[in-house]
Amino acid sequence: MGRVYNFSAGPAMLPEEVLRKAASEMLDYNGSGMSVMEMSHRGKEFMSIIETAEKDLREIMNIPAGYKVLFLQGGASLQFAMVPMNLMVKSKKADYVHTGQWSKKAISEAKKFGTVNVVATSEKENFSRIPELDPAKFSRDADYFYIVTNNTICGTVYTKLPDTGNVPLVADMSSNILSEPMDVSKFGLIFAGAQKNVGPAGVTVVIIREDLIGKAPESVPAMLNYKTHAEDASLYNTPPCYAIYIAGLVFKWVKETGGLAAMTKRNREKAAILYNFLDRSKLFRSPVRKEDRSIMNIPFVTGSEALDEKFIKEASGRGLKTLKGHRVVGGMRASIYNAMPAEGVKALVAFMEEFEKANKI
Ligand code: PMP
Repeated sequence: MGRVYNFSAGPAMLPEEVLRKAASEMLDYNGSGMSVMEMSHRGKEFMSIIETAEKDLREIMNIPAGYKVLFLQGGASLQFAMVPMNLMVKSKKADYVHTGQWSKKAISEAKKFGTVNVVATSEKENFSRIPELDPAKFSRDADYFYIVTNNTICGTVYTKLPDTGNVPLVADMSSNILSEPMDVSKFGLIFAGAQKNVGPAGVTVVIIREDLIGKAPESVPAMLNYKTHAEDASLYNTPPCYAIYIAGLVFKWVKETGGLAAMTKRNREKAAILYNFLDRSKLFRSPVRKEDRSIMNIPFVTGSEALDEKFIKEASGRGLKTLKGHRVVGGMRASIYNAMPAEGVKALVAFMEEFEKANKI
């Protein structure tokens, strides 16, 4: 079987060019006679890989001086705990916006370390929108303000960032990092699990403003303290070397394909193909409020569980894979990250049209 269009929410498709490059270097990286998987993380080849990856990420995202870039382990989920352990240290209060499963987990971890003030939630609307934010409800003395910029499961995205004044804005950007330009200076901390737009699972990118480092209490274990990793440039212990190497290749690919401005243009065009169809279809529909629709994760439903199931099965037979929605919401979801070609979205829509004709209700 050739390559399929894989609509998985993560681990997700990687650019074919990146996979080919990695394959060509699998046995002998750059004349070293070794795979990147086999080499010392303190040797000159790997030092160059991690340094170049950081430099390229800084360039692509236009990360200002005064921010550290860390390559950590433990997935985005470990950040749900590391953020409060390191930042909930003064008033021991933090504001959270509750927009779905991932904010729920983050809130539950943060509650172990201090007081969580949920300033807004769209829970009543099944998280089908980003809730209205009322600055009067924000805590002026919060240690930070937490959002999930793109909600992978529900398919919502912030189109405007909250103005949190002097309170550092912390963002879980796992499912939309590198999908569009972001003004990093507006954030105190950004984190993202890699397995969507960055690379393979196993590495988590953390971008943290330097003044937020070094505030954790003594009781915080070294591995969970941003200071440890910042001081050792992500080499305190053995890092996820191969995942960092692939992420580095992805960063190069982003640069070579025009950077984030070109990426967002392509992503918007791809998403429009699917949304335009959903809005004119009589069978399929998007459950998400128009203004808040994600261009990375696009849930859709027919309204009948049996038809949803039939669609997912038949689509899979056509090489349109992993379209099943998250187990907590059901229906379908097409995750169309940076590496999904426009042809994949067109093939999906063509099949949806065909399915709609064959399954008139
Ligand atoms: N946050 C968001 C927005 C996610 O989509 C995910 C996973 N898909 C996570 C956090 C958890 O990531 P991980 O599995 O890397 O812990």
